[in-house]
Amino acid sequence: MEITFWGTRGSIPSPGSHTLEFGGNTTCVEVLLDSGRRVVIDGGTGFRLLGQKLEKLGGPCQFHFLLTHGHWDHLLGIPFFDPIYAPDTEILVDGWPPAFQAMTRVFDSHMGDGFFPVAFDHLKARIDYINRLAQGYLEVDGVRIDSIRLNHPQGGLGFRFREGRHSMVFLTDNELGAIHGNRMSEFIEFVQGCDLLIHDAQYRPEDFPERRGWGHSSFDEVLALATQAGVRNLILTHHDPSRSDVEVQEIVEEARQMASAQGGPQFIDAAREGTCYSLT
Ligand SMILES: [Zn+2]
Ligand SMILES: [Zn+2]
Repeated sequence: MEITFWGTRGSIPSPGSHTLEFGGNTTCVEVLLDSGRRVVIDGGTGFRLLGQKLEKLGGPCQFHFLLTHGHWDHLLGIPFFDPIYAPDTEILVDGWPPAFQAMTRVFDSHMGDGFFPVAFDHLKARIDYINRLAQGYLEVDGVRIDSIRLNHPQGGLGFRFREGRHSMVFLTDNELGAIHGNRMSEFIEFVQGCDLLIHDAQYRPEDFPERRGWGHSSFDEVLALATQAGVRNLILTHHDPSRSDVEVQEIVEEARQMASAQGGPQFIDAAREGTCYSLT
């Protein structure tokens, strides 16, 4: 599978000269399976850029769309995803069940003048909610996708993809040290031995305790998870909107130093908008 980051930022888009390297768009990740089928995770503002690419590719646009949860930074790109206005587009939605309703509310929220975005029922694309993950697992072209409940206000789901010998885990908006919810041991079991872990690292350790309960992790907690689960490759994402490129790079350097001292992942980086990783 190939994993491409179209949005890497948390909470709100943060364009500017200080975010050029890691990106200012909010969460959207494209997973291209070996079969050629696409699975897209979340519709943050990066989703608009993916729509432009898919239109250039031509042909009918068909993909699975997994929603981690219903917060706006994970949905705001959907009205600007051009293929959603094309009648030959087919989108199969799964993920955190309340997030599908949240997705429709992006169109039917009656914000603004009531005419834009258009009503959800007026979209030309065929959009079906398949709701498999809440009842077990989802299989797409022989790739098994499992889910785990996130520690995040109002809940959410993270995903593990298994394709042949390879596996990738995507956990964003997840507070590993939360007082309630899943414990670290449950996340270790879910992540165990995956080739690539992509995890929310919005905070630094010193951001706690003030931000305890906000539903995000600090990079040292993520490193502890990756190390204990035997993960080889770690990518930190959902960068804080106030964090500059220089500050994100500092987090990466600190995580790498900690990993080399503790026997952690061999490869650590921060998610960069437009970057593609291949698991083959
Ligand atoms: Zn978020
Ligand atoms: Zn959130």
